[in-house]
Amino acid sequence: MVEIRRHYFLKRYCILASMRAKRPQDFAGERERIRTSSKDCPFCMGNENMTPPETAVYRLNKEHEWDLRCFENLYPALSPPDGYHEVIVDTASHDRSPADFTDEEMHLLVDVYRERFDTYARKDTIAYVSLFKNYGKAAGASIYHSHTQLIAVPIMPPELDTERNVIKQLDHCPYCSIVEKESGSSRVIIEDREWLAFAPFYSETPFEVWIVPKSHINNLTYMDSKQTTSLSMILRDVLKRLKTVLDDPPYNYHFLQTIGENYHLNIRILPRLSIKAGFELNTGIYILTVPPEDAAGFLSGGAKDRQSYISP
Ligand SMILES: [Zn+2]
Ligand SMILES: [Zn+2]
Repeated sequence: MVEIRRHYFLKRYCILASMRAKRPQDFAGERERIRTSSKDCPFCMGNENMTPPETAVYRLNKEHEWDLRCFENLYPALSPPDGYHEVIVDTASHDRSPADFTDEEMHLLVDVYRERFDTYARKDTIAYVSLFKNYGKAAGASIYHSHTQLIAVPIMPPELDTERNVIKQLDHCPYCSIVEKESGSSRVIIEDREWLAFAPFYSETPFEVWIVPKSHINNLTYMDSKQTTSLSMILRDVLKRLKTVLDDPPYNYHFLQTIGENYHLNIRILPRLSIKAGFELNTGIYILTVPPEDAAGFLSGGAKDRQSYISP
């Protein structure tokens, strides 16, 4: 059976091709993450001279030299005053990534995301702050050591601009409606009082995950301490489950948020398991080989669903 699904509120479509349905193990091997030696790694402790000077460092305790380190990208996409391009080294550890983080490490990472966003959002010339992570070569990470990037730009990105214009025509926030609709649904992966992580009804890639706060906040700076703690646990746990279920896949995650303008913050995690091929490029319509409900079944750890899915 083939099903055409429309995006929650945009004129975008995906085709659910369940005839070609894939199981998590079908994606094994479609990845390349080449471990480099930590001796030559510019993001490892002791090699700080291989990067531009730091813009900020963060510590989990006083004895540590640093646990997170930020600096301008050596090859910035934009330079001041037009824009800023910062690298956030997520951890001093060469081989660990957020999926492996302790509660404290993940909390610090989310705190740093909020603070770095705020630092650049305050600048007069900046219209948008893009915060994103590339993990694995297929997701665009040129350096193995786990890191996040921030690019502050003087223009509003067209994708978000289109979304804003559609939202302005509505009499309600579509993300608040999504939370209402998806909470408790078969697409939920993890949910608590503050946040909802789910496989969206309309997805562009297998195992796509959205993480949306249940309250209507424009950006990370509006999070209270409960929301911050909850986000750090949920983001870490979703990444951990993706790593387990899909055997450490390459992925991107990114934050959609505005500076001082009414919007509903949301986070997208996109495992890089498929490529945009001719049909996608030609039509902008995505063919989805894993139904979001099945992806949620695997990622929410639903043992029963998993059993029935794997057994023919
Ligand atoms: Zn390293
Ligand atoms: Zn909202």
